[in-house]
Amino acid sequence: MHFLSESLQNYITDHTEDEPSYLAELSRETHLKVIQPRMITGHYQGRVLSMLSKIIQPTLILEIGTYTGYSALCLAEGLIERGSLHTIDINEELHDMQRTYFDKSGFGDSIVQHTGNALDVIPTLDLVFDLIFIDAEKKEYLNYYEAILPKTRKGTIILSDNVLWSGKVLETTDKNDKATQALLNYNKILKEDTRVETVLLPIRDGLTVSRVR
Ligand code: SAH
Ligand code: CA
Repeated sequence: MHFLSESLQNYITDHTEDEPSYLAELSRETHLKVIQPRMITGHYQGRVLSMLSKIIQPTLILEIGTYTGYSALCLAEGLIERGSLHTIDINEELHDMQRTYFDKSGFGDSIVQHTGNALDVIPTLDLVFDLIFIDAEKKEYLNYYEAILPKTRKGTIILSDNVLWSGKVLETTDKNDKATQALLNYNKILKEDTRVETVLLPIRDGLTVSRVR
């Protein structure tokens, strides 16, 4: 979902770094073979994630919601030497495709894949993360957030994706639309929670940056 006109979005993308060739290939294969390809982080947002990660220079990254691995590979670009990225997805069928591209990219040895429900996996990770990307089930964002907070330090950056939910956060919400209701509540809590400071960026479908105090 883009909130800007297509021509302005194209101009923005044209004046942004190109995606590496293995990511263009991953994007093509995802669109050809995997269901719901619109979930993939595309060229522009991918370069935003890469740049943020390079600025943060993380040693440890956690991703919740791997899908075919596009965003994981963008975030991995910022890892310092001997750093690692842990990524969790509930769908085991995606595992082999993720691994193929992780290895093609050269970041394969730095990426640890976890298969399972993030809410079960997170408590088993005895690690403190520098950068966390939340991008799995929208209804669970608040639960992911509470689960990861004990795995952060002062200065950890938490990125939450799709927080504008195609603009549905402004529409009168249908009582049955649990995802929109959950995101409305999540966005409100991030703003009010004194444990973090938060900026919502209007990038693609909305990307919130929260910094742990
Ligand atoms: N970050 C990816 C897109 C993620 S799409 C990218 O930008 O390319 C959301 C993913 O979350 C899906 O692959 C889905 O299988 C996964 N998911 C949904 N519920 C989950 C859960 N409870 N725990 C872990 N992963 C989950
Ligand atoms: Ca997303």
